Amino acid sequence: MNIEQLYRQVIMDHYKHPKNKGIIADNTYMTVHLNNPSCGDEITVQVKVEEQKITEIRHQGTGCSICCSSASVMSVTLKDQSLDDATDVLREFYELIKGYPFNPDILKGDAIVYQGVAQFPARVKCATLAWKAFEQAILKIKEDQLNG
Ligand code: ZN
Repeated sequence: MNIEQLYRQVIMDHYKHPKNKGIIADNTYMTVHLNNPSCGDEITVQVKVEEQKITEIRHQGTGCSICCSSASVMSVTLKDQSLDDATDVLREFYELIKGYPFNPDILKGDAIVYQGVAQFPARVKCATLAWKAFEQAILKIKEDQLNG
């Protein structure tokens, strides 16, 4: 099995058996909904932060295998990170998606399987949609904290 096949298998595993799937009615979560009209992907992401740490991430959506698997990978990658560390991980993931060098000490685990996506510009939005939704959620959480 070559590396591309291995990456594809990881993506299909997350697509078929997503982690942290299903949103819940709980107003202690910040909820963000985003869509990607170019592919028809839609995703809702919920984030719960306690004492500056991300304690829960939920997601639910419909879309292509890249988008749905990436939501699962995002939830596993960012859960239990501090808000500051999560911001660093997001930045490294966007570098990887664009095909730029990324820091493997910061971005670890299954997220690296998306590095091939840089070759397919139309898929970049699919791979980043859930991560953008997460990013908006933590920005709103930080705003709420500033506003007390
Ligand atoms: Zn898509």
